[in-house]
Amino acid sequence: MCLLHKDLDWVKFVKDEVTDRDEYLLALESCDTCFLEYMQQLEKVLEEPSPDFTDPVMQEIQGMQAKAAKPNSFSPFKPFLHYIVAACLTLFLLEVGAFDWLLKDSLLLTTEPNLFGQFLNQLGELIGTLKINLGG
Ligand SMILES: [Zn+2]
Repeated sequence: MCLLHKDLDWVKFVKDEVTDRDEYLLALESCDTCFLEYMQQLEKVLEEPSPDFTDPVMQEIQGMQAKAAKPNSFSPFKPFLHYIVAACLTLFLLEVGAFDWLLKDSLLLTTEPNLFGQFLNQLGELIGTLKINLGG
């Protein structure tokens, strides 16, 4: 018990039932005895949590778990969504001419297999995989 701050009730402070928090914080900063007392009361509350302290915390945790669990229910669709995004992105890049350099290179290197044709074949395979996933 601190003689300098004997009017401060650390149990109330721990339970957040005080109106003059600044006075308590000032005592914590300046007084080792008060700090020790505060830590002791905090330990007690954490060791034996009252129902009105644990219930809101448990509800909060359960709410967070429910939120976290929600996206998992859509996980079977995730690979499918990745395919959609990849296909759309590829088609968009084709549209804006991002692969024009492939076409040019394949025309210059006439002995090499047509890279653009290979690319189109791979795109066709990707769309085929997409159809299989849609069917399954
Ligand atoms: Zn004190």
